Amino acid sequence: MAKTVLVTGATGFIAQQLILDLLARDYAVRGTVRSLGKAEKLRKTLSEHHGSPVQIELVEADLESDAGWAEAVSDIDCVMHVASPFPMAPPKDPQDLIRPAKEGALRALHAARDAGVRRTVMTSSCAAIAYGYAQLPEVLTEDNWSNPDYTKDCPPYPASKTIAERAAWDFVREEAPAMELATINPVAVFGPTRSADVRTSVGIIAQLLGGKLPMLPNAGLQFVDVRDVSLAHIAAMEKPEAAGQRFALAGEFYTLLQTAAVLREAFPQYASKLPTRQLPSFLVKLLSHVNGDMKTISYELDKRRFVSGDKAQSLLLEKPYISGRDAVIASAQTLINYNAI
Ligand code: NDP
Repeated sequence: MAKTVLVTGATGFIAQQLILDLLARDYAVRGTVRSLGKAEKLRKTLSEHHGSPVQIELVEADLESDAGWAEAVSDIDCVMHVASPFPMAPPKDPQDLIRPAKEGALRALHAARDAGVRRTVMTSSCAAIAYGYAQLPEVLTEDNWSNPDYTKDCPPYPASKTIAERAAWDFVREEAPAMELATINPVAVFGPTRSADVRTSVGIIAQLLGGKLPMLPNAGLQFVDVRDVSLAHIAAMEKPEAAGQRFALAGEFYTLLQTAAVLREAFPQYASKLPTRQLPSFLVKLLSHVNGDMKTISYELDKRRFVSGDKAQSLLLEKPYISGRDAVIASAQTLINYNAI
């Protein structure tokens, strides 16, 4: 009989790719959604990409409520806990991110333990590795942890991912030693989006192509493609040796200006929208006091956070990462196809 995998946050960018890849490998899939009102649209989107109507059971479960979790995990072989709040702009109160991220991870794990599910793969983030440093190391690895207490270098989202992941490891160690946990810690995820519902990371590409950013700060990110992120989740479920390990998924580093250049070359019809000039850092710092986007980017200003993705590449992917260029172009192409610019 096919193994059944629970994917939490089934409406999300990463979760949709993961569900499609699980179905293609003949796993049975159940998903959680915040509201069953989203079920029909989600089934339609997944079916379009799957090529035939998908069989996916959907259960309503919110990260901030106990309702639905026991039902979601019953008769499940593996939990993929992907859901976590990832908003475009940081909330006024960091707890609005930290609380659902941490409590949601614990709800998923509690339910999994009580239902006797052996392995959980949790989508953490390189944000749980690379933030909160007074002196940023040149290369970070899975041995590093972000420090949410050093708020000068750790905004609310990385704090939420760090606190949630730490809580998950503590829970398994202290309260569920028979369970196996593996975490996938991706850098910024690009690649094809499966709907016109533009989410946070791909939203950066939509902003660039849409001419929303006339000048770019001196900042950059490492990229990974959502297809590699999905593959890594599946390998972390299937490989016995993945248990108990964190896996940073991290490809090349691109500055924002380099990203714009990739887009300009691949999509010359958008060239006039794409910025070529750098916004001086002093101006970003000044604007960060009044503008939420500038505040978010100010944490990356004049920095190069670099996490090694070598371990995940050799143990999980067993192939080179999809290039940052291909990931960015795939995001852009799908956004254009969906008229989402
Ligand atoms: P999305 O915003 O596309 O997906 C997030 C998912 O979480 C959605 O299904 C969303 O539901 C769900 N969710 C959020 N809050 C709640 C809540 N209170 N109760 C129930 N469900 C909730 O983001 P991604 O797909 O990009 O991210 C998925 C995971 O990957 C997250 O854990 C994120 O932190 C992590 N990650 C993402 C990276 C990226 O660059 N994209 C990089 C590194 C890690 P709804 O649709 O209803 O809002």
